[in-house]
Amino acid sequence: MLSTLRLSATRTFATNAVVDGFNGAIGNTPLIYLKGLSERTGSHIFGKAEFQNPGGSVKDRAALGLIRDAENKGLIKPGGTVVEGTAGNTGIGLAHVCRAKGYKCVIYMPDTQSQEKIDLLRMLGADVRPVPAVAFENPKNYNHQAREYAEGLPNAIWTNQFDNIANADAHYTSTGPEIWEQTQGQLDGFVCATGTGGTLAGVGKYLKEKSGGKTQIWLADPPGSVLTSYITSGGKLVERSGSSITEGIGQGRITDNLGTFVNELSGAFTVPDEKSIEMVYELLDTEGLYLGASSALNVVAAVELAQRLGKGSRIATILCDGAYRYQSRLFSKKWLVSKGLENAVPEHLKKYSVL
Ligand code: PMP
Repeated sequence: MLSTLRLSATRTFATNAVVDGFNGAIGNTPLIYLKGLSERTGSHIFGKAEFQNPGGSVKDRAALGLIRDAENKGLIKPGGTVVEGTAGNTGIGLAHVCRAKGYKCVIYMPDTQSQEKIDLLRMLGADVRPVPAVAFENPKNYNHQAREYAEGLPNAIWTNQFDNIANADAHYTSTGPEIWEQTQGQLDGFVCATGTGGTLAGVGKYLKEKSGGKTQIWLADPPGSVLTSYITSGGKLVERSGSSITEGIGQGRITDNLGTFVNELSGAFTVPDEKSIEMVYELLDTEGLYLGASSALNVVAAVELAQRLGKGSRIATILCDGAYRYQSRLFSKKWLVSKGLENAVPEHLKKYSVL
């Protein structure tokens, strides 16, 4: 119950608040109590402020975990090159960590991603290679191109965020324990979306183990992902169809990071783009939070889970990144019209579409 929950008016820091460079600043993000939405549902909804990581997203944790894993295994030496296929945020995290550690960084990304992410990667010194967005089964998919390039280069690694479980491990050893501590082990449900599955499986596994199975773990999915139907059909993998405006999430296969944990999920919600867009604007208006569409999708799912688990339930989700990375899309009237989403923004919130 909320009466037993101590809400801190300001962010609290450990006494040893000086951290070691960019990499030391990753993690230990606040857990934000979403007051307006909690009051509306009669539940307690918390968002893990991953947009406060120094590279601006939840993927900073994975980026550091993947590079540390390669270093520990002796796969990369000083001056080496890190190569990855990414929708952007992992690349941005990797580019930061590479700068901080003195590695070169090469990023293959689908050409459908926002210009803001491409520009930022280039400003961080990454060699960005946009490639046509084709399915994973196609050898020209950005991931395969990244692997092939790394294989032909000396002192280079392909971090392989989708199937290298150092990604989920980073969340199992940091994000999960932080949420557990911040909620004092009183959490009825955790829900989030999946790109690689690292966040969902890493956090979910930790919370399930610590709670002895009491904390339910749910998936939040965009249209065009096959995971909801996989979970609700008891394990049937259908062909991918449809698409979503939410960048960085949705999946066409069971990645190694999701692995067998996918069978431990209590259920899944598919969130239509209209609801995610509406929540982007609502989070801004009622909570003062300027967040990307995957965060909004997660919050829509958290509200649905709160309704399902009943009044007084305590639900946590991930606030993956800020809207800065997508503002030329999410806050542009023209872009919303081009996606047929102009009516997703409620009339009284249209004042925020200023671009
Ligand atoms: N939200 C955003 C904006 C992302 O970029 C990503 C990762 N691509 C995710 C959510 C999903 O995280 P994960 O890869 O851990 O499933």
